[in-house]
Amino acid sequence: MPPMKKITLVLLLCVSPLASSEGLPDLGDVSQAALSPAQERQIGQQSMLQIRASRQFLDDPEVNDYLNQLGSKLVEFSGEPSLGFEFFAMNDEAVNAFAMPGGFVGVNVGLLLITQSESELASVLGHEIAHVTQHHYARLLNGTKGDGLASMAAIAVAILAARNNPQTATAAIVGAQARAVQKQLDFTRVHEQEADRIGLDTLQKAGFNPHAMPEFLDRLQHATRLVEGNAPNYLRTHPITSERVADIENRVSKQPYRLMQDSLDFQLVRTKLIAAQKTSADALSYFEQAVHGEKFGNPIAQRYGLVLSLLRVQNLARATLEMQQLQLLAKNNALIDTLAGRVKQANNASDSLAFYRNALQNYPQHRALAYAYAEALLQANQAELASKILAERVNRYPADTRLYQLQARAYAAQNKQLEHHHALAYSAAWQGNLSGAIEQLEIAKQAGGNFYQMSIIESDLNELRELLGARSKK
Ligand SMILES: [Zn+2]
Repeated sequence: MPPMKKITLVLLLCVSPLASSEGLPDLGDVSQAALSPAQERQIGQQSMLQIRASRQFLDDPEVNDYLNQLGSKLVEFSGEPSLGFEFFAMNDEAVNAFAMPGGFVGVNVGLLLITQSESELASVLGHEIAHVTQHHYARLLNGTKGDGLASMAAIAVAILAARNNPQTATAAIVGAQARAVQKQLDFTRVHEQEADRIGLDTLQKAGFNPHAMPEFLDRLQHATRLVEGNAPNYLRTHPITSERVADIENRVSKQPYRLMQDSLDFQLVRTKLIAAQKTSADALSYFEQAVHGEKFGNPIAQRYGLVLSLLRVQNLARATLEMQQLQLLAKNNALIDTLAGRVKQANNASDSLAFYRNALQNYPQHRALAYAYAEALLQANQAELASKILAERVNRYPADTRLYQLQARAYAAQNKQLEHHHALAYSAAWQGNLSGAIEQLEIAKQAGGNFYQMSIIESDLNELRELLGARSKK
């Protein structure tokens, strides 16, 4: 059996607008032609390759799965429910969120931590979703005049960088062009008001508290002190005016205040991020204090943080005891079950297998659970079953590099050289490292396999070479 189906590389097979301004598709005069939805998607996908390869991409499937669950509740009530949005977290303390053409929405850890309710986070997502569904990028490009600046490469790099981090943007685009491009890409007041209005509508239809939107913006304006040295980027990339706030407040004032209970996942994901920001010793004392009633907060989330911290300092005995308490407090939660599995696994990998197998039946979509199970299977020398669990997920998450890395380990343990290097190739390709991927495919080819496997390798090689050629073409 081939390790992966062919479809996984198809998304990569479009000419990269990011790599050089020369080998670009001829889009004609962008000042006259709006981007087609396919072109928007292409820019978004290419930008995602760069983002996944960057250190700022938060490679935590639980955080990203949560964002996608929340996001999809909103997308359902947006103007384009079938667009196939992807939400992801960035490991960046700056308070910001950004949307890229084609439905890719990034949320910084800094913003996730500053939100005080799930409705506030949903209000930000709703606003970003509206930028996408209203095609604000395409409309911005329409507005730019056809000078040299408007090359797709400069625009795409700027979209990727300027929205999130002005320093990167300046490095990414040369000199004076940087400021001009960035200026063009800051959404106009009209775009912001439209994104607010439509985002608010989506927020309400999806059942969240509409008052969260003005409350969040208001708090952001007063919270500049929290973000060392600079005003929240969110306010810069989504310029806020008193007119804009007044407009939202006016719309919201007619709406009933909906007191919503935050989901447990919202609390747990925030707890996980808080823990990750601290040293292991600080995290432990923080959650010890929290659990013993010295901090306001959700008791389940606090105990979850405590178990997480105990596991981190390898205090297995106490982690096991506290986990038992936690499981009495909260049943039927995928994040808690995943942590319970990790505690069992740290005690004894073989003993955790039955638990993981059972939990995965309850939460088949929870990626972290599948990966932890695969990891435990590898530790217990059951690589073949690990391969099976992972292969089931490749079609669903074709861009998940962690999946391919686990697959590579599973194949190595079975001494399947071709499959091992094939998986490494996919991991490299999805991180945008095309020459590294080609290298791995060459090694896979030398390892040899059956006719079917060899023809897939050959065809992947051709695709990647074509892509690499398109990138370097002058
Ligand atoms: Zn905005």
